[in-house]
Amino acid sequence: MKKAERIEVRVFPDPILKTVAKPYAAITESDCKLAYDMLETMYYEDGVGLAAPQIGVSKRLIVCAPQQKNGKEYIFFNPKMTNLSGQELGPEGCLSLPGISGEVLRSTHLEFTALDVDGKELQMEIDGFFARIIQHEIDHLDGILYVDRVNFSKRKILMEAYHNPRVL
Ligand code: ZN
Repeated sequence: MKKAERIEVRVFPDPILKTVAKPYAAITESDCKLAYDMLETMYYEDGVGLAAPQIGVSKRLIVCAPQQKNGKEYIFFNPKMTNLSGQELGPEGCLSLPGISGEVLRSTHLEFTALDVDGKELQMEIDGFFARIIQHEIDHLDGILYVDRVNFSKRKILMEAYHNPRVL
């Protein structure tokens, strides 16, 4: 396989960020190459997660590294979550909304299935910060940004700051 390459991250208001991504019917070598390019991009941008629409591909693929550079990294095709439980407010940022961050209510526990790079089905139970990343990235596959999940008045302040960085 060729060496992983960085890809430019799409930022709001790129319309692909508001588009529902399509599932994979099969996973090819070029799909895996894309996943490794996404990890390379995520690390370069200092992120802990990245979804394919953020690099211009409207497919259901996410990558993440909940322990950041020192930990294990994950590639998930067709990720699905079920049985979400618990709730916690916590800070989130997004590589597609540079310069701002906000508090988002997320579930603290979830059950999760996805396909790995070999097309094998994974089943996991995920908690805490990892669960927050998974919810944030799956939202990207459904055309949802974290700012869509903060209340209207806070979203207004965040988006004004996004469009006019000097007001911060
Ligand atoms: Zn994001």
